[in-house]
Amino acid sequence: MIDVEQHRDHLERLLADLEGGNWVLWIVTSVEDWAASINRPQRRILIPAMAVRASDGRQIVVVRRLLSDNIQKDVLDGFLARGQGDQPELKDPRRFLEHLVLHEVAHHVLDTQDEEPCDAWAFSRMPGRVP
Ligand SMILES: [Zn+2]
Repeated sequence: MIDVEQHRDHLERLLADLEGGNWVLWIVTSVEDWAASINRPQRRILIPAMAVRASDGRQIVVVRRLLSDNIQKDVLDGFLARGQGDQPELKDPRRFLEHLVLHEVAHHVLDTQDEEPCDAWAFSRMPGRVP
């Protein structure tokens, strides 16, 4: 289980250092409940994170506060399903969250629903990564 609140400062610094945007981090109990509350109902449940541009221009990354082992496994299994292999680095909670948040931002920066380019963009922006 990851409690995202314990990584808030780190993730806020990560977002502050990103070029081309002014993203803020919101940590919520349920991303899908939050999305429904702003009239963006989701079909999935237990959503780990999503990024939205509000109509007033704010850029918000919303992350579920408690990420169970099963939720983490679903995300990591997504890499396997997309043929990107095992990503052992992401088993570290901080690395997992860095990639999760950057991936959601990437959907807006790259303006695509495709997962692969967003994964690649996220990896390329993870701090301390040697390209
Ligand atoms: Zn995605």
